Amino acid sequence: MTFAATVLTLYPEMFPGPLGVSLAGRALDQGKWSLECVQIRDFAIDRHKTVDDTPAGGGAGMVLRVDVLAAAVDHALALHPDSPVLAMTPRGRPLSQERVRELAAGPGITVLCGRFEGFDERIFETRPVEEVSIGDIVLSGGEPAAIMLLDACIRLLPGVMGAPSSGTEESFENGLLEYPHYTRPVEWEGRTIPEVLRSGDHAKIAAWRKQRAEDDTRSRRPDLWERHADARDRPASGARRKTKDQGK
Ligand code: SAM
Repeated sequence: MTFAATVLTLYPEMFPGPLGVSLAGRALDQGKWSLECVQIRDFAIDRHKTVDDTPAGGGAGMVLRVDVLAAAVDHALALHPDSPVLAMTPRGRPLSQERVRELAAGPGITVLCGRFEGFDERIFETRPVEEVSIGDIVLSGGEPAAIMLLDACIRLLPGVMGAPSSGTEESFENGLLEYPHYTRPVEWEGRTIPEVLRSGDHAKIAAWRKQRAEDDTRSRRPDLWERHADARDRPASGARRKTKDQGK
């Protein structure tokens, strides 16, 4: 099945952009995913094709009009009723690998790209649109965020990555950062690849990698580590918790 990506944007010329090369580009050529860009301006209702207006209450910049956005979103929903619509906005829920995995397992996604000061809030009150942020930074437009989101989904599509294990062993897949990597030359500028990785002892290598993944997550991402530790310590089922509580 082809994963259908629909992008609602004022700048369709920005696509496929980086998604047209390497892994994603090959997958696009092979029909593993499809891309359709929809020009938001086509849904403007006046003869000047206006898509934005000044912010209610005053302030800097311009805001994308809800009537124009709604017409564009309705068009995408009519085309792909089963695909979730995700709006790129720093006000959204931070994107996670878990959510990316869910999206990649579905029929496709519609991505709504903002510009200027962003969207009239009423689009989220009236249409099934999920607000997604790609991090605590502010971009000038939603298109680079959409490219990031699509790239993350596309690499998980069946047959896109060479070795299937490279998708499951990566950072965030088990709530941890991935362990560090090394490759030849064995010695470089006085630094040697850790001996264990050259030992050929697979059990020892796995133990070393697990330890490094845990140590690095704890020191670099205390937020992730806390969540990982909570999940690890949580009882596997309600039944087990009940038994434990009853034992007190
Ligand atoms: N006024 C908005 C705010 O402060 O939350 C920022 C608007 S930004 C200049 C223009 C557009 O870039 C947004 O509507 C959104 O589509 C996109 N954008 C910027 N930062 C983003 C982020 N961290 N995640 C997702 N999209 C982002």
